[in-house]
Amino acid sequence: MKQNICAEIFSIGTELLLGEITDTNSTYLSQRLRDLGIFVYRKNTVGDNVNRLTQALKEALTRVDIVILSGGLGPTDDDVTREAVCEVLDETPTVDPELFTELKEKFTQRNRSMPAGNTKQAWLIPSAKALKNPIGTAPGWFAQKGGKTIIALPGPPSEMTKMWTEQTEKLLPITNTSLYHITIHTSGIGESDLCEKIQAFTRLDSPGIGTYARKTGVDVRIAAAAQSTAEAKQIVQPVLDEIRIILAPWIYGYDNETLASAIMKLCTAHNLTFSAIESVTGGFLTEQISACPGISCCFKGGITAYSEDSHAILGIDPSMFNGPLSKETAQEMAKAAKKIFKTDFAVAATGVEETAMVAVAGLNDTTTSVVNWPGDREMIRNRVSRTALQLLFETIKETTRSRLQNQSDNSRGSS
Ligand code: AMP
Ligand code: MG
Repeated sequence: MKQNICAEIFSIGTELLLGEITDTNSTYLSQRLRDLGIFVYRKNTVGDNVNRLTQALKEALTRVDIVILSGGLGPTDDDVTREAVCEVLDETPTVDPELFTELKEKFTQRNRSMPAGNTKQAWLIPSAKALKNPIGTAPGWFAQKGGKTIIALPGPPSEMTKMWTEQTEKLLPITNTSLYHITIHTSGIGESDLCEKIQAFTRLDSPGIGTYARKTGVDVRIAAAAQSTAEAKQIVQPVLDEIRIILAPWIYGYDNETLASAIMKLCTAHNLTFSAIESVTGGFLTEQISACPGISCCFKGGITAYSEDSHAILGIDPSMFNGPLSKETAQEMAKAAKKIFKTDFAVAATGVEETAMVAVAGLNDTTTSVVNWPGDREMIRNRVSRTALQLLFETIKETTRSRLQNQSDNSRGSS
């Protein structure tokens, strides 16, 4: 058993360097390696050039134990991953009869004759074991030599992930390092303000704390490595508990939770429903809500009312319609949706370009919040929807909190 196994990931293909495709393979591999307790030290993107790839691989192997490559296993001359691995390991490839037969068979099954170029997909070197590719033609390589491991996987993401999960992970050297990590999601606080509040923890060696500004708000990731997940969790827990208290007003969830799922959780626990109405976000707010699986238990519907006339159709009193940027308009929209859908809460978003007004009609009153920040259309839609959902979340949280408080006061009073 070995401690602290380190890896580098290589994404291979000139199309990646030209920005023509997005490198999703390395994101996937990073996540998998993280969960396996293998430390990723670097990610590299290299074009279809055998010399540059060979050089980059040699350098990586001076730094880490494992390099994982995706791409460049195709049959054409520009796919040179095998050639570079042969060069690095100083081995000569031969056509493996079993791989060759399997490959030929794949073409026969499709009533096609195998082009000569594909022969190199049946290559093998003494240090490598072939990884089968049931959904493509390119087998992968799992090569080990001199204590180092080189794994070559096909580029197409579906082939790569299948080969990784079904065959590769079980061949990896076992690490006795376990990682535990948790991500706290916040909304309504900027990254620098948040960092200032938790600066007592951000310079700790362990657990490591990272903050990330995302479209959905600012995330705080707390992570530790130890010999077991339980031990790593013990390192994280006390810091998590303290940060949770400090950031309580802004936290809406953890790990895979979203604002919509946090709202659903609250609504389900307290038997509440909500609806949405929007203009400036053009349906995006409803899309964000409906992306949450199971939300139909509490979300009754959303309306996109883009023009002023459409508000009249919804029964909003024209005298209350004070232009798309007014507090009154947002409030009237929210009240209208609450009435139409017969829900306990309704959230509304209205505005013009970068200035928007969001409102939530609650059980007794209506609250509003202004969004005013420059950005392109997508950023504005995102920010306004997030602010609307955040206001809804806070309103429901506050309502349920005071409900619970009243219940406990009543039960105390009656005992
Ligand atoms: P290759 O194995 O280099 O022939 O790659 C075949 C195809 O896989 C490419 O044209 C891309 O569509 C896809 N691909 C390759 N590398 C990546 C990557 N890092 N992330 C996402 N897709 C990729
Ligand atoms: Mg390629």
